[in-house]
Amino acid sequence: MKTATIRKNHVVKTGYLIDMDGVIYRENRLIPGAKEFVDALTATGTPFLFLTNNSVPTPENLAVRLKQLGIQGISAKHFYISAMNMADFLSETDPGCTVFVTGESGLIAALHECKIANDAIQPRYIVVGEVAITMDKLVKAHECIERGARLLATNPDNWCPVSSEKTRPGAGATAAFLEASTGQRAHYLGKPNGYMFYRASRKLTELTRSRPEPVVMIGDTMETDIRGAIESGLQSFLVLSGSTQFESLADYVYQPTRVLQSVADLTEEIKTGQASNRLNSPVFVNGGFSLVKGGLRHQTDILAFYKPRPRPPMIK
Ligand SMILES: [Mg+2]
Repeated sequence: MKTATIRKNHVVKTGYLIDMDGVIYRENRLIPGAKEFVDALTATGTPFLFLTNNSVPTPENLAVRLKQLGIQGISAKHFYISAMNMADFLSETDPGCTVFVTGESGLIAALHECKIANDAIQPRYIVVGEVAITMDKLVKAHECIERGARLLATNPDNWCPVSSEKTRPGAGATAAFLEASTGQRAHYLGKPNGYMFYRASRKLTELTRSRPEPVVMIGDTMETDIRGAIESGLQSFLVLSGSTQFESLADYVYQPTRVLQSVADLTEEIKTGQASNRLNSPVFVNGGFSLVKGGLRHQTDILAFYKPRPRPPMIK
């Protein structure tokens, strides 16, 4: 009888994993409607976590950033970042291991929190994050790998957006340097690695003390947010407020569950609890793409030698 009462009162809620850059803000500006969207999540007690591959800021730094942008009521517990995914991975797969880190405060704090010790002489792993890299550190990491250390990176992003015109090198680019110099392949955590989505979903369940169903990933990047969500069995909502143009959807084999202009499209349904099918993915509503895409083919590669080397995609 008691169990039946509990089940009756138990409301299963949709949980959201939300990318930040291109979804909540771009550069130093909020995406229009993002504040109302987050306010609706907190007012209705909807389970959510912000999920980012950026391993530079700590969750506390990110909470302050959102506050400065005008979003109140967010604390460190609302974030799951790739640096935390790295610390969780090492704690679970090799407790007591040691690391040599090339990265900034977000990564160093996450490893420290999980009591993973630094060792610059004979570390078990080289852990590559973003931004804080010098030639001295690369040489040190290279030598440690030659002595047997394994190579890990917080995420596979080769570059990261800084503004609409500017990018900076990402953790994937630093790891690629060490892959080239040592011949060892790096293991990449963060999105789209399923371990990121698995641990984030687990944290969402721990926060809400019940398993949200379904769990929806909201993101602006097909290669990380959408691909990782699909491969982890989650729903995926693509927003067009960031790095992906609607026309480029035809370039991908996998497709998001829904396509939205921005998170503002979700505010009303979060408030009312009524899901809408508005702006559904074109692949579901129109019976597929009519656009035929040709590849970049050359009959011979000889002419391509004289062309500038194209920049690689954001991730491998
Ligand atoms: Mg993004």
